[in-house]
Amino acid sequence: MGRIVQKFGGSSVADAASIKRVARRILNAKLAGNEVVVVISAMGDTTDELMDLALQVSPQPKPRELDMLLTTGERQSAALLAMALSDLGAEAQSYTGSQAGVLTTGTHGNARIIDITPGRIEQALNAGNIVIVAGFQGVSQTTKDITTLGRGASDTTAVALAASLGAQYCEIYSDVDGVFTADPRIVPGAKQIPEISYEEMLEMAANGAKILHLRCVEYARRENVPVHVRSSFSDKPGTWVKDKSEGSKMEDAIISGVAHDRSEAKITVVGVPDQPGHAARIFETIGHADINVDMIVQNVSQVVSGRTDISFTLPMSDGRKAIEALQADREQIEFEDLLYDDQIGKVSVVGVGMRSHPGVTAKFFKALAEAGINIDMISTSEIRISVVVDVEQVDEAVRAAHTAFGLDSEGEAVVYAGTGR
Ligand code: ASP
Ligand code: MG
Repeated sequence: MGRIVQKFGGSSVADAASIKRVARRILNAKLAGNEVVVVISAMGDTTDELMDLALQVSPQPKPRELDMLLTTGERQSAALLAMALSDLGAEAQSYTGSQAGVLTTGTHGNARIIDITPGRIEQALNAGNIVIVAGFQGVSQTTKDITTLGRGASDTTAVALAASLGAQYCEIYSDVDGVFTADPRIVPGAKQIPEISYEEMLEMAANGAKILHLRCVEYARRENVPVHVRSSFSDKPGTWVKDKSEGSKMEDAIISGVAHDRSEAKITVVGVPDQPGHAARIFETIGHADINVDMIVQNVSQVVSGRTDISFTLPMSDGRKAIEALQADREQIEFEDLLYDDQIGKVSVVGVGMRSHPGVTAKFFKALAEAGINIDMISTSEIRISVVVDVEQVDEAVRAAHTAFGLDSEGEAVVYAGTGR
């Protein structure tokens, strides 16, 4: 008998009818002879609505209480799903993250899973139940408070549970058919990718593809859990995210996909003395403020002044904090000015094939040039090339790259409800 974990996103359980539809789907997996553990997201936009409500009550809600509030969304959908399954004649029980043994760090709003002790889940499975676990939450090992794992993190709950329960694979259901070569809302001819490696999916997720939570992919790769990303609105096979080291069919695809991200901003620290230690001080300041930096570029220094400019990108939501922190350390860093620009976007081409194919960079940049798009910053990894461009030109840049690497298809991609959750 197989053991599988299925995760359903908010768009798949948006209302009572959807919950019943999903229940039938889960029951089919059970009737096919599987032990089934389901991880569920909050219904529709519940998490956003709870967040809005909190902000109406208190402009800066205490993180501990916010987590108590937000976790109720998943608790609702879990209980409702268990009821729907019972009505179909199945034995089903719902559990909170804490009851399911999801132990986390104490960082409210962005806790990390430390360990899973799935004793109760094992028992419930052994007793023949379908087990429903509320996603995106756990309990802090130290404070014993309820925590959340970050927006979109039910994916991570699912993969972590799959790993700790020794499941064969983890299915992630949303309202799109799988992982696409680009966002189908920007590129109507984007193609569904049948199979993608963990490392490529990591780069896609880290560079703006929202279909899977980044930490879910990290977890899946570390624990070697195959992930099947598919739609709960169809029966089509989706995208398998798995280890493709042996006998890969995809070896020929130079570029697997084009990702984009509009959530970053750029800070330029102007007129920094070009001497050892100044760059270190800038990033010490940023690091102490708990801000993750993405791309960094240092200009050639001016001979006359012996000063240079250093630019970096960071999450837009941390922009204000970064500027304040840098201003506070101005004397030690000795910069002349700070510039802030949030009208930028990042476009990345990702593919393991670029390891063995020279000329990918030239092709990408030529496509951008022909589309009249100016490149502001560049960064690369072994399997990715990213550029920062004007935010107004992101869509155009994605389309240009998609076409240049021969990824366009004839048909139109289907987006069932349009959220990708
Ligand atoms: N409901 C949570 C959110 O919207 C977690 C999830 O859906 O994965 O972020
Ligand atoms: Mg999601």
